[in-house]
Amino acid sequence: MIHKFSHGSIELKKGDITEERTDAIVNAANSGLMGGGGVDGAIHRSGGPDILKECKAIVKTHGRLPPGKAVITTAGRLPLRFVIHTVGPIWRGGTRNEPEILSSCYRESLHLAEEKALRTVAFPSISTGAYAYPVDQAASVAMRVVRDFLSRQHGTVERVTFVLFDEGTYKAYENALLQLS
Ligand code: ADP
Repeated sequence: MIHKFSHGSIELKKGDITEERTDAIVNAANSGLMGGGGVDGAIHRSGGPDILKECKAIVKTHGRLPPGKAVITTAGRLPLRFVIHTVGPIWRGGTRNEPEILSSCYRESLHLAEEKALRTVAFPSISTGAYAYPVDQAASVAMRVVRDFLSRQHGTVERVTFVLFDEGTYKAYENALLQLS
């Protein structure tokens, strides 16, 4: 499914984000940037050790990455230009600024993409796996932030793809996108 806004489009697809060929893919990382399970593990497995080496150097220089922040590395063996690593909020009932932190993940990742003048970026469903964010709520945050970002006039990003790993997650994002438009 694809929905066009005035300055770009949001695309939803089911699949594995390591098979995307956008300019950058976004990794749902953890604060230590050490790789892990879920989508993080899949990206590091496919991208090879160079990505982890760059992540370690970033943590050494700047410290652990707080939730809501994002950093960018090259993509190692993956046939794309960059991997953007962002740390989603761990769901703690919704009273610890989870929606603001999740919004910040999407905004900061897109800002980094624009700094590199990228045109296409792919996201997984940040925080809805191990970090247990309810998927309907996460999908609605994601759709609103990305729509708002694409509504500004001067960006380079023209297509944002959400690569969703299972049918339930895909449906949640589809509903959230339909509710926007
Ligand atoms: P978090 O810790 O932010 O919750 P997870 O990796 O545990 O991150 O899960 C985030 C989402 O990514 C979940 O919907 C999970 O099913 C999905 N996921 C896992 N592997 C992949 C993959 N290779 N491509 C796309 N999405 C994936």
